[in-house]
Amino acid sequence: MKKLSDLAPRKPTRPVQVGNLTIGAENPVVVQSMTNTPTQNVSATVAQIKELQESGCELVRVAVPDREAANCLEEIKAEIEIPLVADVHFQSDLALLAVDAGVDKIRINPGNIGGEEAVRKVVEACIREGVAMRIGVNAGSLSPKIREKYGGPSARALVESALNYVDFCRRLDYHDTVVSLKSSQVSTVVAANRLFSQQSDCPLHLGVTEAGSFPEGAIKTAVGLGGLLVDGIGDTIRVSLTGDPVREIEVAYEILQASGRRRTRPEIITCPTCGRLSYDLEAVVAEVKERLAGSERPIRVAIMGCVVNGPGEAREADVGIAGGDGEGLLFRDGKVLKRIDESRMVEALLQEIEKMDF
Ligand code: SF4
Repeated sequence: MKKLSDLAPRKPTRPVQVGNLTIGAENPVVVQSMTNTPTQNVSATVAQIKELQESGCELVRVAVPDREAANCLEEIKAEIEIPLVADVHFQSDLALLAVDAGVDKIRINPGNIGGEEAVRKVVEACIREGVAMRIGVNAGSLSPKIREKYGGPSARALVESALNYVDFCRRLDYHDTVVSLKSSQVSTVVAANRLFSQQSDCPLHLGVTEAGSFPEGAIKTAVGLGGLLVDGIGDTIRVSLTGDPVREIEVAYEILQASGRRRTRPEIITCPTCGRLSYDLEAVVAEVKERLAGSERPIRVAIMGCVVNGPGEAREADVGIAGGDGEGLLFRDGKVLKRIDESRMVEALLQEIEKMDF
């Protein structure tokens, strides 16, 4: 049975090379994060990047607040495998140092880096060294002119600001730009990214800024990013959470999995349970999750609470079980394959998964 999907195709964006990664076009949505160690502390920063790398982070950003930090970039870059992004505010000379240190991408907010001439110098350095750039526009640092025109940091104000900078780079024949339009207001993030994607083929970095700590920040980000990803908008994501950045990676993959944009493991569908439940569904779910941990098969596995409604309710799953009153049903693509003793349900499910082709 062919599964229906309402997932929109990705919005066509231009590919931008960042080290050995390509952001945009048909490439998988890239998961990124940012260290929270002092960049000047090379060993702590490298250790955190390695932890992030191991948890699935594909691109990492470090803050470059001063010359000392800029001078550590070369050493950090030499110790890590994933591409490195330098985050620079206010001082264009630090951006130039970062480019010379061999970073793969720099993140600047052209609105606070020191005017047109400063941006031009940074762009020219990026062209010379083949370095990509994220133009990070956010609600807190719009130019007074745009702020006045729109009466505040609205979505349209963010988009106009970003488009102006992208055009400025294009006039200099620089096209390796990725754009972010961030706000701590979910509605502004959603509206700004939708509007921008209608007007530009520049890849989008999605994020909700100052989202907060876990779990509220994760939910806020999921609300902001989920709909955009389903609609095909977004080429890289960063979940901003206060605390250990490794958690950002876990949440980022959950958002990509839930939106269907990048499925990297089996999706376990479980019913919410109701008065018809007559077996320990939670224990079965825990066992199946444990047995499938580490699997990268993007299948949908259903575990339902009763044999009467379960298979029908989980018709969209690839494979599943429904139990109750001592026996269970094994079903695939909405059709019952066989009845089994409740004690053998998990084994039968796992055997059926083994038989499936991918
Ligand atoms: S599958 Fe059965 S137990 Fe679960 S919610 Fe539906 S009716 Fe209730």
